[in-house]
Parts: sequence; C-alpha cells; structure tokens
Amino acid sequence: MPRLTATFTLGSVQIAALSDGAPERALGGFFHGVEAAQWTQALGITDPEHPVPFNFGTFLLRDGSRTVLVDSGLGVPGRIMNIPGGGELLVRLAEIGVAPGEIDTVVHTHLHGDHCGWNTTEEEGAPALTFPNAEVFVSRREFEYWTSAEVDGTERAAVARKHSLPVQAAGRLRLFDGEATIAPGITAVPTPGHTPGHTSYMVASQGEHLLITGDAAHHPVHFEHHDWIPGVDIDPASSRESRAKLSALAVERDALVTGGHFPILTLGRVRRVEKGYVWEYVERA
Ligand SMILES: [Zn+2]
Repeated sequence: MPRLTATFTLGSVQIAALSDGAPERALGGFFHGVEAAQWTQALGITDPEHPVPFNFGTFLLRDGSRTVLVDSGLGVPGRIMNIPGGGELLVRLAEIGVAPGEIDTVVHTHLHGDHCGWNTTEEEGAPALTFPNAEVFVSRREFEYWTSAEVDGTERAAVARKHSLPVQAAGRLRLFDGEATIAPGITAVPTPGHTPGHTSYMVASQGEHLLITGDAAHHPVHFEHHDWIPGVDIDPASSRESRAKLSALAVERDALVTGGHFPILTLGRVRRVEKGYVWEYVERA
C-alpha cells in the first residue's frame, strides 16, 4: 500500500504531505521524445509500461498562526488523463485533526483539475466552497489564461473555471504577480511552461528551506534532465527553463525539494555537478 500521509518539520513549520489518491501508473508521457530505454533506466525499470507509484498530492503547512494548503487535489473521485484518483483529501485532513474551516490560506501551483479540485463541491446543484474561510492564491497569469477566450470550450478551462470562479464570486480569490510573498515564509517562484502561470513555492523557516515544485517536475528525475518534457506542458521551452531555474535555486538555498506527484514521502536535495544536476534522496520523518 502506498503511504497516503506523512508529516515532518521545517524549522518551526509542521508540514503534512496529504494524498488525494495514489494510483500506480506508467510515466512514459512525462518524458516526451526521450528514448524509452533512456528514461526507464533512469527510473530503474525495464518496461516503459511498467506502473510506478504516482500521487495526487497536497501539502498542509502549519506554523501555529496560519494553516496553509498547497494545492487541493482532484476533488470528488474521478479521473484525469484516465488516471483514477480524488475523494481522499478531506479524509486525510480529518485523520490529522484538521477541519476544512480551519484552513485560512490555499495556494495553487496551477489550475489543472488535479490541483484545484477540492476548492468547490456541489451542494444541492450549486457550487459550495470546501474551505469557506480560506483566501485562495493563484498567479494572475494563470487565472487570466484559464478564463481567457483563447481556451473557451476546452475541458481543462471548464474545470479550472469550475474551481476558481465561485471562489472569486465569494470575494476570496487573491491574484498575485511574480515572486510574491503569499504568507510569512512562503514565496512564489514563477515557473511557467507546464501552464502559463505555473508557480512553485519556496517555504523558509529558521534557516531551512523547502521547495514545492508543482508540476515543473512530475518525478525527481526531472531535476537531472530538464529537457525531458512532459507531453502535457503547454510551452516546452519555458518548462525546460523553469526546471533549470528551480534546480539552481534549490542548490543556492540548499533546499529540501518535493512535488505533489512524487510518492509520499519523497524529499531530496539537488546538487550541482560538472555535467549538470543530480537528485539525492533525503530521509526525514
Ligand atoms: Zn498535476
């Protein structure tokens, strides 16, 4: 059974990695245009169709004054790109004693359906906010893209709108630009490519740093191979640049690194070597 919850601390921040579903799946689509023999070797498998652990992950950060949720999973049980998931986040929160109403801040890496799914649920046919007391932070570029005429009629835009427009209507949507400070110790790191306004987050506490990548990396191997482009990335050149930027930043801050699609609990550090970067797993908790 995959691990569905793990907690660890970063300085004075208590962090819980919480899964909204942890199916196994083949990862080939995340290494577009790369010879199967090359990426399978990097992942330690031989068959490209071999399922490996995957995760629809979120992170809950608590520092005693704030309760911040990074991404909100897939929402009601469903599928995205035919991968089943969802339906579990509220159970995971209950298991660690957190009620939805206690979450005061939600921050999004982007507005794909597996990252904002729990923002709204339906009650008697009308959308209701799952986290009624939360301010919800999304990069302005991301929100404007998914609400633009350019993507009208697409399923992805419909899902992004379904989970953000009711938040806006309730006056709880907070749009930010660039490297904004979302809350004390939580800084936005623009990492466009996967989506136009994709954002990673740097969490800092007492001299320690944690980089939450979002979908700038679907697997730690993306820190070693910036040009292994996920087929879903909207702008491959930008996504490659964003991985280079994240790798350099992770080294500069000596940050722990994790991502929502990495199996729980995946933490690592990125090291600079002559040929580029290497990922080193770190045990914690
Ligand atoms: Zn995703």
